Amino acid sequence: MVTPVAEINLGALQHNFAVVRSCAPHSKVLAMLKANAYGHGLVRVARALPDADAFAVARLDEALILRNAGITQPIVVMMGFAKANELQLLAEYDLQSIVHSDYQIDYLENTPLVRPITVWLKIETGLGRLGFLMTDAKSAYERLMACPQVAKPVCIMSHFASAELLDNPKTVQQLARFQETTQAFEGPKSIAKSAAIMAIPQTHLDWVRPGVMLYGGSPFPGEIGLSRGLQVVMTVKSELISVKKLSTGETVGYGETWRCEANMPVGVVSFGYADGYPRHITPGAPVLIHGVRCPIIGRISMDMLTVDLRPCPHAKVGDVVTLWGEGLPVEEIARCANTIPYTLMVGLTRRVRVVEK
Ligand SMILES: *Cc1c(COP(=O)(O)O)cnc(C)c1O
Repeated sequence: MVTPVAEINLGALQHNFAVVRSCAPHSKVLAMLKANAYGHGLVRVARALPDADAFAVARLDEALILRNAGITQPIVVMMGFAKANELQLLAEYDLQSIVHSDYQIDYLENTPLVRPITVWLKIETGLGRLGFLMTDAKSAYERLMACPQVAKPVCIMSHFASAELLDNPKTVQQLARFQETTQAFEGPKSIAKSAAIMAIPQTHLDWVRPGVMLYGGSPFPGEIGLSRGLQVVMTVKSELISVKKLSTGETVGYGETWRCEANMPVGVVSFGYADGYPRHITPGAPVLIHGVRCPIIGRISMDMLTVDLRPCPHAKVGDVVTLWGEGLPVEEIARCANTIPYTLMVGLTRRVRVVEK
């Protein structure tokens, strides 16, 4: 049996963290570990970043995993709480919460807690998703400041819609709206994700919130992380489990979408859409074998995919195949699949073994 692996290079992760520090030397770093640290392993990544000032996860259950693993840094739950008992758990485990809606302030005012909790008031400046409208921000802030269950200061944050599109005026508009709305608020402020950390220094404020750049990925379309001095953290590998010569006219894969125009060697790789490979990737997208790019042919199957071995005619069963990572940028595979590197990283399924390099 050939089990695919995702190798995680923690040295590269630490290098990328240092890049965050050098981009934003005057800001604290809230490292984004949501979705199992973008597929890299929640606890592993937290332990590898002892110098992060705080961690953020999307949901309460991820935060509990970190606390139960002995992680002592502040942890922010980005989606906050939706029920009174979740708020109580946040306080018990000394977790911080985003507050994005009035109903959450109602809970804060009415739920007995073992200790006051630190909250981040989220303001909607143009993403059109979570957060208080700018017109409601002042009253939300005042309610939080008056609430004895809320630790002071109240932190303030917002989120960009298009920071990776460098000539899009929305980003500076959102920053201006954020600063205007919150200038009378005392707490620490945060708005920058990876794209803004790397490209727009005036967004850095008190806290930056790097995600994809920690994992070596570039948020900028048409660019790879390496070109910004980031290092590859995740390399996804499997093996050839069959190599054979098919004759002219034979077809490969479901739906017969590939027809051999010559006698040619075809390899079968133990990696399919059930492992997290994008089924709708453009035909001809590369895998890497012995450092050589070989194009995928035919449809992606559940457990396998098939490659044209003509560029690497000596490839044999058992040879390592890289799906993305070192030598084959995840950004390039994402582009072939008409998606972004984030979805490939977080889309690996449980049967891919995640190991440290
Ligand atoms: C995911 C997330 C980030 C990090 O975004 P990247 O583009 O991966 O750097 C920052 N802030 C919030 C609120 C997020 O949800």
